[in-house]
Amino acid sequence: MKKRIVIIGNGFASLFFIGYFLSLPIFPVFAFFLRRITSRYDITLIGNGRFIYFPAIPEFIIGKKTKAGITLDIRPWLWRRNIRFVDDQVVDVQDGGRTVVTTQGRYSNDALFIGTGPAFRVDDIPGTGTHTFSPCAGPDDMDAFMHKLEGLQEGIIYVGFKLNKRDGFVAGRGGQMYECACLLDYALKKKGLRDKFEIHLFSPDIEPGETGAITDRLQERGIILDYGYEPAAFVEGGMRDADGAFRKADLVLFTPGIKAPAWVQQSCLPVSVGGHIEVDKFGRVKGLDKVFAAGDCSNHENPPPWVPHQAHMAQLRSQAAAKNMRAVLKGGQPSHTYRFELSCILNMENDAMWLHAASDDKPPFWNLFPRHSRKLVRVKDMFERLYLFYLRYL
Ligand SMILES: Cc1cc2nc3c(=O)[nH]c(=O)nc-3n(C[C@H](O)[C@H](O)[C@H](O)COP(=O)(O)OP(=O)(O)OC[C@H]3O[C@@H](n4cnc5c(N)ncnc54)[C@H](O)[C@@H]3O)c2cc1C
Repeated sequence: MKKRIVIIGNGFASLFFIGYFLSLPIFPVFAFFLRRITSRYDITLIGNGRFIYFPAIPEFIIGKKTKAGITLDIRPWLWRRNIRFVDDQVVDVQDGGRTVVTTQGRYSNDALFIGTGPAFRVDDIPGTGTHTFSPCAGPDDMDAFMHKLEGLQEGIIYVGFKLNKRDGFVAGRGGQMYECACLLDYALKKKGLRDKFEIHLFSPDIEPGETGAITDRLQERGIILDYGYEPAAFVEGGMRDADGAFRKADLVLFTPGIKAPAWVQQSCLPVSVGGHIEVDKFGRVKGLDKVFAAGDCSNHENPPPWVPHQAHMAQLRSQAAAKNMRAVLKGGQPSHTYRFELSCILNMENDAMWLHAASDDKPPFWNLFPRHSRKLVRVKDMFERLYLFYLRYL
């Protein structure tokens, strides 16, 4: 009998998981039929059917990317892989992982993969949900930010982030907010309005006085560094400090720390101190049989303190989880672990930097690309095009 596999979510982690789990490189036209004949698995994916390429959202600021351009109907990709798609939302996981409960049904499985992505700690700083925008909340929120920005001829813009480090790694989005600040500078200069705006970069997670390549790039652009600053609350027209003082801000772009979605806390899934789904080094959910998780919803076992949540990390983790799930479904033991790697291109449009760190000190792409060059803007664009082409046609 075919093994029943349920996958939750249709973001980076789940799609990478499927890519590695079904490792058949197949021509798209024949894929559906061939996979039907040869498949040993009966796979169901539960999600909303829309894949969002999040790394492109900061480029809304310079008008280079739009919601339509980075949102993709993922159902044809799943169809080519003979995966049943259920358009629904998961609300619980029960019976040690064997039952997935959605708003409209229950799904039994022999193995489960969870890639539900992040939830943001919006309650951490009061007023976050009502008085700030965030690229991490998706294209609609970023469009709303842009709409408000376009109505301003002058003003003060705060760009900031807060991290959740309680699980020993960086659960938050620092790099993306640096990128947003630099792209704002570029966009306002292009409009001839830069001298009418103050751009601030704030985060309680950066030490005041911190130096380095990112700080240099921000200072080159006249961005005011409020390192170490955390507002007590976001309020109408700005922020309130711990001592009660008011800071004026016409617009705030802010992203809070990351944890697993709320429904996880009530499910049978173990939750880490930082609020993630607790997994081991094999991507296996701790204490549960044949349940795996990867991506922004889950923590790491013994991570280096610098590793962030990234699509790139989701790929490495999903690869290990896919191999391990295959092994346990055949009666074996999980043995595949993953490397830790921070790797992303910070796009400033008139310049770019490849931010990189790896647990095994391997350079990105055998050092084929420069670490600091405007040419990296095109490289970043190329990665996006290649990935979206793969999802659209292969
Ligand atoms: C602005 C921005 C820029 C970024 N830039 C980069 C970058 O340059 N490089 C990089 O590597 N990473 C980048 N990232 C990070 C990267 O996008 C995330 O790490 C990645 O999306 C995590 O993948 P995921 O599958 O865990 O979550 P997601 O991609 O968020 O996918 C989660 C999926 O689960 C679904 N889902 C959620 N809840 C439920 C539910 N209850 N039931 C069913 N389905 C559910 C969602 O609809 C979605 O399909 C960026 C992120 C942002 C926001």
